[in-house]
Amino acid sequence: MSASPKSILRSDPTRVVITWQDGTTSAWTAAELRRECPCARCIHEITGQRLLDPTSVSDDTTQQDLALVGNYAVSMYFSDGHHTGIYTWKLLRELAPRQS
Ligand SMILES: [Zn+2]
Repeated sequence: MSASPKSILRSDPTRVVITWQDGTTSAWTAAELRRECPCARCIHEITGQRLLDPTSVSDDTTQQDLALVGNYAVSMYFSDGHHTGIYTWKLLRELAPRQS
């Protein structure tokens, strides 16, 4: 399932809500997404080992900008200045904490 979202809602800086084409909704806090950042500085490219210490990410982290990457992903700019993560729809689907 890598269909693109129907909508991405980020009216609240501490939350991101995605509604998928099939009508299901996924919601995360910005801190949750920051901790799951898939970039080469947070995840070792070869071993897949997580380099980022999740406890170093504050719960009140906010997302300040969000940009579509092609038609397959979104990049986010977080309040800690980190912005190199590319969150593919596939990854976001895997990270989805709850669906309704
Ligand atoms: Zn990262």
